[in-house]
Amino acid sequence: MRLGVDVGGTTVKVGFIDNYEIVDRLVVETKKETLFDDVFVAVKEYATKKNYKIDGIGVGLPGHVVGTVIDRLPNVGISNLDVKPIANKYFPGVFVACTNDANAAALGELLADDDKKASAYMITLGTGVGGGLVIDGKVRDGSHSNCGEIGHMFVDYVHNYKCSCGLNGCLETVASATGIVRVANQYQHEFKTTLEGEITSAKAVIDAAKAGDPLGLFVLDVVADSLGRSISIIELAVDVDTFYIGGGVSNAGDILINRIADYYKRYAHYAVKDINIKRAKLGNDAGMLGAAYLW
Ligand SMILES: [Zn+2]
Repeated sequence: MRLGVDVGGTTVKVGFIDNYEIVDRLVVETKKETLFDDVFVAVKEYATKKNYKIDGIGVGLPGHVVGTVIDRLPNVGISNLDVKPIANKYFPGVFVACTNDANAAALGELLADDDKKASAYMITLGTGVGGGLVIDGKVRDGSHSNCGEIGHMFVDYVHNYKCSCGLNGCLETVASATGIVRVANQYQHEFKTTLEGEITSAKAVIDAAKAGDPLGLFVLDVVADSLGRSISIIELAVDVDTFYIGGGVSNAGDILINRIADYYKRYAHYAVKDINIKRAKLGNDAGMLGAAYLW
């Protein structure tokens, strides 16, 4: 049985996986100082009780990781830590692999589709914007384990908002949940809208768009434009079959995905116009499933 671990800020989700199916799961409350000990102690106890034999452990992490060594997890507050020796303390000799959570989710989504050896890219639209690349069924981290940092592509020439990374016009300044709130507030007074007062929630903007609100629809159009442009650029570099769109903002559904696809066609090179742009379907399970198939 394979173990897929999805590390979050305060809870860690663990999937017990057999033949691409999550057959059992565990959620572990953790403390920052003892996060991985907390996880593997709980897993060991549970696996022993259930008589599960663990053949390998894959871990998806919200930040920069090189091999099994965490460089920095900004939202968890962990840096410079090797996961492998901690895992092997509880599971001696078991194979351990790590990657960032966007890569793990990309692989998970691909594995849930028919062709497990295909190539795909996943874009996660959350507080920020992340990316994960799978080529021929294998996660690709890149030479600096940095190939998913697409949130900082310069694509928004129109607003050129300042980004947290120090650059301007980054994709995530408009296409993340925080970006949606930013754009909505800027254009609020130019539309007859049900969104009154200071707008603080991306979900409220998305819900308004779904109900046909002109400001909500305009904001989603800005988001879709920036994503269609970004995907057209990424596709020229990676040439994959499918882009999955996930994360909280993707809950906007077809109204967003179809617009992204329309903008993509407008910007895309003629040789790659015919690709799939789909909404991710596994939600939080994608990270666990993908992490379990890193080897
Ligand atoms: Zn940036």
